[in-house]
Parts: sequence; structure tokens; C-alpha cells
Amino acid sequence: MTAETFEVVVIGGGPAGLSAALNLVRARRRVLVVDANRPRNAATLKARGFLTRDGISPLELRKLGREEVEAYPNGEVTFAHAQSVVVAPNGFRIRASGVRGAADVDVIAQVVVIATGVSETLPAVPSIRAHYGTHLHSCIECDGYEKADTPLALIGETNDLAERALLLTQWTSDLIVFTNAVGTVTDDEERTLARLGVRVERRAIDDLVGERATLTGVRLIDGTVIDRVGGFVRPEWTPSLAFVDGLDLDRDEDGFLLTDANGRTSLPGVYAAGESTPPGPQQLIVAAGSGAVVAAAVNRDLIGLTVDRSDPVL
Ligand SMILES: Cc1cc2nc3c(=O)[nH]c(=O)nc-3n(C[C@H](O)[C@H](O)[C@H](O)COP(=O)(O)OP(=O)(O)OC[C@H]3O[C@@H](n4cnc5c(N)ncnc54)[C@H](O)[C@@H]3O)c2cc1C
Repeated sequence: MTAETFEVVVIGGGPAGLSAALNLVRARRRVLVVDANRPRNAATLKARGFLTRDGISPLELRKLGREEVEAYPNGEVTFAHAQSVVVAPNGFRIRASGVRGAADVDVIAQVVVIATGVSETLPAVPSIRAHYGTHLHSCIECDGYEKADTPLALIGETNDLAERALLLTQWTSDLIVFTNAVGTVTDDEERTLARLGVRVERRAIDDLVGERATLTGVRLIDGTVIDRVGGFVRPEWTPSLAFVDGLDLDRDEDGFLLTDANGRTSLPGVYAAGESTPPGPQQLIVAAGSGAVVAAAVNRDLIGLTVDRSDPVL
């Protein structure tokens, strides 16, 4: 049986993918969005900072996005997890396993837009996941405002904790950095933070204290409890890209897809938008903007307008 053909298949239906799809259906392209439907920000109840939608639920934002794409007869969204993308005679063949009762996908596309974002690994603290999205957040710009002027923790196991702590001083003067005996804060950084009243706690964390509805503190391995009502964690981010392992795509050292300024990857016909590209995690509106930029490039390239591939590769 001949596989169905689309001009563009967008893989990933977050703000980046849906924004790319919306602009492409409006350019009268036949577009399929293949989305595993696991929003990165599902842990939180309110998405902040998206102009005209400040405070909207993440699920509602996506639902509105899907409805806008599917309002066009040439736009379709299906829930499926992409398993593979391979080069095919007339473009690319995309295979995906249906999720939430949706059918499997096996289609051909002239162009593929990758917008599958990242997966997160949180610091190894037993109940951290239970508090993630309510008392603990990762995006300081997104959730700093609601946490302002309260006793906060910054928990992480990476070497950029000082930078994030400095950023957080815009929202609170009562901050303790917890390295969980893993994260690196240099002596110089610690002195700088101390001048701003920020303490660094290097002992390992046993667990967080408090029920799901509240957070009251951080318990260290020696039993000491340090009172905190909320804070931020520094996850480790990995791009969700296993399904394109069969394509020859340039990546950075962390595995993110390298593109030119308009989202063109190193393989003609394959584009990347949102958090599949460096520098990784950002914000909803940034991801949506990236999707619109990529859509414009895809449409121009399909028409055959001159492509300047000498654009700086990020
Ligand atoms: C807890 C939390 C709270 C946040 N709060 C805010 C906030 O308040 N404001 C804000 O601006 N930003 C917030 N963010 C950041 C925001 O969620 C991201 O910036 C944004 O979601 C990135 O968009 P994206 O489209 O690049 O990727 P995503 O939103 O991650 O979308 C990627 C999509 O691709 C799908 N996918 C992955 N792999 C596959 C595959 N193989 N096949 C098919 N589909 C696949 C995923 O299921 C997902 O639906 C928050 C993030 C977190 C973790």
C-alpha cells in the first residue's frame, strides 16, 4: 500500500511544532503534526509569560494550538510517538506508534520539522518529583514572580548553580543553594553569593519535608532540616531525538540539533524548531516564535527561493 504523502510533517506538538504548523497551513501547505502529547510543562498548573495567555493551563494552551491548526482543511494533528525518520525516494518516511488510542503513522513527507523538545532528569532527591511544578520549578523567569520574597532553595547537581542563584536574587533575598554534595560552586562564586546573603549548603540531601500540598524544608543526610517553602531545581536536559538517529544530522556536544538561523539542519529537507536546538530549555513564547521562523524558511525553500546556507550555523 502506498504511504500517504504530506508536504510537511511536524514531529512534536508543543508550542514550537504547533506554531510551525499553523504558519505552514496558512501558507497552504498540507501538514501533519505527529505529537506524543507529553507536554514538558505538564507538571505545572499555570503557564506564565505567554503574551495574552499569562496564567493559562499548559494543556489548554496546546489544545487551543491544535484547534487552530485543525481549523484549516490542510492541517491535521495526530497523537503518535515517532519511532523513525529515514530518507525515502520523495523525501522522508516517518513511522510513529499511535498513543491514546490513535492509529499508527506511516507517511511520506517532502519536509520534516523536528520540534520534540527535551526530557528532564531531576536531581536525585526522593520526593522532588512530587513537588515539581507546585513548590519547585525549573524556569526562573517563568515562576520567580509567584515565589518572590519567600525562603527559597535552589537544588542542583551541575556547575552553573551560582549563575542561577544570582539570577534568583532578583526575586528573593532569602536563598540557599543546595548542591546535594554533587553540584559545583567555586570558592569565588561562594564569596560573591555570600556578599548577596546567599548561602551554599554542600551536604547531601536526604529528602524534602512536607506533604504534597506544602513544602516546609529540606532535610539533609545528617538529619538537619533547613526551613524552605519552595524553590527551583536545575534539571539535566536531554533532547528527545532517538527517532532521527538514522539521519545524518549535525549536533552539538549535548546532542541538540545544529541549524542555521532559520532552523535548517545540516540535512536539506529537515528543519528543527524550539528546544530541539541549542541552547535547549527556554520559554513557551520563544519556542512558538522559533516555530514561526522555521515555517517561513520551509515555505520559501519549498517554493525554491534562494537559500543562503552560509547563514551562521549556531
Ligand atoms: C515544569 C515546567 C514549567 C514550565 N513553565 C513555563 C511557563 O510558565 N512559561 C513558559 O514560558 N515556559 C515554561 N516552561 C518551559 C516550556 O514548557 C518550554 O519552553 C516549551 O514547552 C518548549 O516548547 P517546545 O515546543 O520546544 O517543546 P515541548 O513543549 O517539550 O513539546 C515537545 C513535544 O514533542 C513531543 N515529542 C517528544 N518526542 C516525540 C516523538 N518521538 N514523537 C512525537 N512527539 C514527540 C512531546 O510529547 C511534546 O508534546 C516550563 C517547563 C517546565 C518543565
